[in-house]
Amino acid sequence: MALYVHKYGGTSVGTAERIKHVAEKVKKARDQGDDIVVVVSAMSGETNRMTALAKEMQSSPSLREMDVLLSTGEQVTISLLCMALEGLGCPARSYTGGQVKILTDSSHSKARILNIDSDKINKELEMGKVVVVAGFQGVDEHGCITTLGRGGSDTTAVALAAALKADECQIYTDVDGVYTTDPRVEPNAKRLSRITFEEMLEMASLGSKILQIRSVEFAGKYNVPLRVLSTFEEGEGTLITYEEAGMESVLISGIAFNRDEAKLTIAGVPDEPGVATQILGPIAGANIEIDMIIQNIAGDDKTDFTFTVHRNDYEKASSILQNTCDELGAREVVGDDKIVKVSLVGVGMRSHAGIANTMFEALGKEGINIRMISTSEIKISVVVDEKYLELAVRTLHDVFELNEEKSD
Ligand code: ADP
Ligand code: ASP
Ligand code: MG
Repeated sequence: MALYVHKYGGTSVGTAERIKHVAEKVKKARDQGDDIVVVVSAMSGETNRMTALAKEMQSSPSLREMDVLLSTGEQVTISLLCMALEGLGCPARSYTGGQVKILTDSSHSKARILNIDSDKINKELEMGKVVVVAGFQGVDEHGCITTLGRGGSDTTAVALAAALKADECQIYTDVDGVYTTDPRVEPNAKRLSRITFEEMLEMASLGSKILQIRSVEFAGKYNVPLRVLSTFEEGEGTLITYEEAGMESVLISGIAFNRDEAKLTIAGVPDEPGVATQILGPIAGANIEIDMIIQNIAGDDKTDFTFTVHRNDYEKASSILQNTCDELGAREVVGDDKIVKVSLVGVGMRSHAGIANTMFEALGKEGINIRMISTSEIKISVVVDEKYLELAVRTLHDVFELNEEKSD
């Protein structure tokens, strides 16, 4: 007998009919003799709807109260799913994150899981029940409700799978696996039967929202077998694995993109030791995360300094930078919040030169100007104007031969 953790996302539980469909799937899995723990998200659109309601009360509500509010979305789906399961004659019990003691730190809206008490779940499983746990939430040491950040139900599922030593954590969603890029942007994208943790982590960090970054980190760290599959179609999905010797090493596994970026430049700053920290210190002090950084010598002992931030932090970062500009006697601050980052990811890049050049050439041919570049062992990212996002993704998808082979 095996133990599986299933996770169903917002679209998969978006209507009463869909919740019943999930109940049937879960029952079928259990009827095969396995133990099943289910993690569910809020019904699709609910988390956004509640966030908008909160904004009507206060422009920036306290994160503690936001967590109390948003955690209710998942509480609705756990109870409905249990009712649907019981209706099918399948014994089931629902639990909120706090009830099964998913202990987190106290950073509201982006809490980290510290510990999970698996006793209660194990007891229910022993009694032959399906256990349904609310995703995305936990409780801190003071008993306050916390949430794990958008997409956090993925992390709940993986963390539970690790704590319960599950045989596999299965993430059921509205696509039938991880694709070479978001199929909504490139309809010719191809499903990958396997992807390494390392590549999946890069894809998630670089903007692919199919899995929350922390869920992939967790799975890699605790060696949780992780699979992404469709709620609506049968299939093998995509298995996320360690790199194995002899595994066919593809050059490029996928293309990720991030629409949430903005860039800022402070021009004509003195080229002296300590300037970088004078510029970035106040930004970090305001809790703004910085992504790419470039510095270029402009001549006359002056330099230009450019970095990217999340688009939501653009206004705040601009005004902080304007202050720094005045203090340093720099020339000016210029910014652009209509940019995106497009990245190629693949472990095969380690042993191949020339990929960056092929990428830049392909983008150049399409008249797409590259504004910033950043590379690491297994990825190359470029920042381009927002209007070129689709063109850049499709061009690269084509050039690196990632398209689904057409059988005609
Ligand atoms: P859920 O609500 O089930 O958690 P998400 O919306 O969070 O689902 O994630 C699934 C979506 O991720 C897909 O509908 C797809 O548009 C998007 N996506 C982005 N990148 C990829 C990729 N490389 N492969 C598959 N889907 C991707
Ligand atoms: N409901 C939360 C969200 O919309 C968590 C999740 O779906 O994973 O982000
Ligand atoms: Mg998701």
